[in-house]
Amino acid sequence: MSDEKKLTTASGIPYYHHEDTMSVGPRGPLLLQDFILHEKMAHFNRERIPERVVHAKGSAAYGTFTVTHDITKYTRARLFREIGKKTRTILRFSTVGGEKGSADTERDPRGFALKFYTEEGNWDLVGNNTPIFFIKDPKKFSDFIHTQKRDPYTNCKSPTMMWDFWSLNPESLHQVMFLMSDRGTPYGYRHMHGFGSHTFSMINEKNEKVWVKFHLKTAQGIKNFTNDEATRMKGIDPDFAQRDLLEAIDRGEFPKWHLKIQVMTFQEAETFRFNPFDLTKVWPHNDFPLIDVGVLELNENPKNYFAEVEQAAFAPAHVVDGISYSPDKMLQGRLLSYPDAHRYRLGVNYEQIPVNKCPFAVNNYERDGSMRIDGNSNGSPNYYPNSFDNIKPDERSKGIPLKLEAEVADWYDRNGPGEDDHYTQPGIFYREVLNIEDKRNLVLNIVGAMSGISGPKREEIINRQLCHFFRADIGLGMAVAKGLGVDAEKAMPQHHSKDAVTV
Ligand code: NDP
Repeated sequence: MSDEKKLTTASGIPYYHHEDTMSVGPRGPLLLQDFILHEKMAHFNRERIPERVVHAKGSAAYGTFTVTHDITKYTRARLFREIGKKTRTILRFSTVGGEKGSADTERDPRGFALKFYTEEGNWDLVGNNTPIFFIKDPKKFSDFIHTQKRDPYTNCKSPTMMWDFWSLNPESLHQVMFLMSDRGTPYGYRHMHGFGSHTFSMINEKNEKVWVKFHLKTAQGIKNFTNDEATRMKGIDPDFAQRDLLEAIDRGEFPKWHLKIQVMTFQEAETFRFNPFDLTKVWPHNDFPLIDVGVLELNENPKNYFAEVEQAAFAPAHVVDGISYSPDKMLQGRLLSYPDAHRYRLGVNYEQIPVNKCPFAVNNYERDGSMRIDGNSNGSPNYYPNSFDNIKPDERSKGIPLKLEAEVADWYDRNGPGEDDHYTQPGIFYREVLNIEDKRNLVLNIVGAMSGISGPKREEIINRQLCHFFRADIGLGMAVAKGLGVDAEKAMPQHHSKDAVTV
């Protein structure tokens, strides 16, 4: 056959004996000089790289983002420059708490990490399938994630740890309610929304800046598993979401999401009733309606999972001209933690890995480091300023000043207006967003999950968490208390009246 290939070592040397090792006589012992045996064993031992400490189990696909509406009055980012403009993307979905081999249908938020390979560099919008999160300060993140992982003694998942943490951190209530609703067990990845979650900013050609939120609404329609269906699917097909996405794309059924933004002016941000940079709260649609931007279509499966999905690296710090950060404390923390995680998992040159590589040449003075594979800028100067190259700082990317007038302090016990209100939006969510069936499933799911709390602190944790449900909505508190067999009158916060939670 003309396209026959020779079997070779990693250094390209053709060889014959792939399955039998050179030995002294047919029964052995083996000869040290058969280095192909060493190469095979040594490479195998090194096949695993550290799994992501969060979002370890994931699936990804390439796609195309197409602009359908003009938002140039908000942003000068070139990918939004004209209607019809297309940008290549990769989108990685994931669960959060489980290990790489865990089941896709676990009750968990889903990661929604999107990379746009734009002409001005790669823009990563790294969010979740929820517009909010459990905490609003990154110092709490490692503690929170520990509660979602394994108990240090039993090495099992622990509802006790989870509810202990949540009950001691009332800011988590909103996201806990999203998680416990049926959207906590989405039917694969195609039937859920995505959110940039944080507040970001956009800057236009006139250097005017607004705050923005990004929403990606599924065109497939929302579809969820009930708790029982999700539990069953863990046994039937733990890789359900991976298979569902891959097979849909292989069939030519390309899933789509509609990208929309919410926009808040700086003036509105100053007087808005909540801190607009608080990741535990949404911007209500009535106040800040969704504005159409474009369509994202996933249309190409990666050819190799490890190369293109396991090694895919996303970082909220990667924004392009016309898009920037906000004071959101969680975003600020993630600006540091994501590239740091990639340097640990993939090495300091992780952006040279093809899936992470920007589509054009990069120009800077970073050199060397483990696994530098791109020629290392050949003989060009490795310092700046210099008299030899013509690399210039980009004037357009200077950024515009943001005026801050605040004291440098630990603001823990001196919060701003609305900062301690952990109950208004969860209450609205329960009363006005969920229908009767959603409400029933939410309560069943909460009761099921809280029933797993065990040990000497069980009653204390349950009562503390019940208080949060009561504060959001008395009916919700009553229903959960009843489901857990707790005397609702005793569990209800003493000083609490229905008026206090009416919004
Ligand atoms: P609206 O009343 O205009 O819309 C309700 C939103 O809730 C829709 O986006 C809907 O998504 C979403 N939703 C419905 N069921 C669930 C669920 N089980 N889990 C999560 N989201 C769900 O919203 P408002 O802006 O007036 O806010 C009211 C409440 O809605 C908020 O307090 C918040 O709890 C929730 N919410 C608000 C969002 C926002 O960005 N403003 C986003 C998501 C939820 P769908 O697109 O499928 O209709």
